[in-house]
Amino acid sequence: MSRIVYVNGAYLPEEDAKISIFDRGFIFGDGIYEVSAVIGGKLVDCEAHLARLERSCGEIRLALPWSKAELVAVHEELIKRNELDEGGIYLQVSRGASDRDFAFPKDVAPTLVMFTQARSFVDAPGAKTGIKVVTTPDLRWARRDIKSVNLLAPVLAKQFAAESGAQEAWLIEDGVVTEGASSTAWIVKGKTLISRPLSNKVLPGITRKAVLAFLAESGFTFEEREFTLEEALDAEEAFITSATSLVMPVTTIDGHTIHNGAPGPTALRLREIYIAFARKGGVLG
Ligand code: PLP
Repeated sequence: MSRIVYVNGAYLPEEDAKISIFDRGFIFGDGIYEVSAVIGGKLVDCEAHLARLERSCGEIRLALPWSKAELVAVHEELIKRNELDEGGIYLQVSRGASDRDFAFPKDVAPTLVMFTQARSFVDAPGAKTGIKVVTTPDLRWARRDIKSVNLLAPVLAKQFAAESGAQEAWLIEDGVVTEGASSTAWIVKGKTLISRPLSNKVLPGITRKAVLAFLAESGFTFEEREFTLEEALDAEEAFITSATSLVMPVTTIDGHTIHNGAPGPTALRLREIYIAFARKGGVLG
């Protein structure tokens, strides 16, 4: 069965959906995206993803003509039309289609595309075995806090990971781990979770924020600081967070075993709490 996707106001079978070859998302990567998870047919923390979308669009001066409520309604409609129980919903908005010219076009409506991808998140194999991570230099631009559709550097990093038999790449800059190619990076020492502060150097993870909201419930403390690769190799545990990996234990980094090669109790406990939160649609408490 072909998917039903959303393009500029219409719900269409994916093979009938079209956008212009002059779309600025395609020509310049002049656009923003978001990814929300669906678990048990429910959107997870979608409001927070849409708040980040609004912020990203504001930072590139792309005026969004849709309200958050309208965008949530499209998400819900796609879940219904695709009978999506578990998977991701991708939203891509570009500055629209216009003859090729770098400066912003006048009187052009943004292009909005949304599509679903059915995938198992809760029973992902990595949750039982842990995932392998390899490191690679961080080649990205200076505004990584904007969720831009320019994903060439992460594409190259992920391809390097795939060719190395790993599931994620950790990006290294000035000797420290910035983040995963598509996730937030964490290490654990005792009862302390360590992840770097938010800045223009990283995407502010929505899953990161949720995990930090569970500190009291989980009994962990948080140390917000940078960490080096050497420190990560020496850590008791490591894990990543993202909308689609949830909380995922890391069991090797560059071939070095972390936590005896088995998922650690901290990552597994946070994953359990996150899944309970996700099943409620991403509502705290
Ligand atoms: N960092 C980067 C570079 C990402 O691409 C992502 C997710 O795609 C994340 C962090 C995690 O963000 P979130 O938890 O909002 O999915």
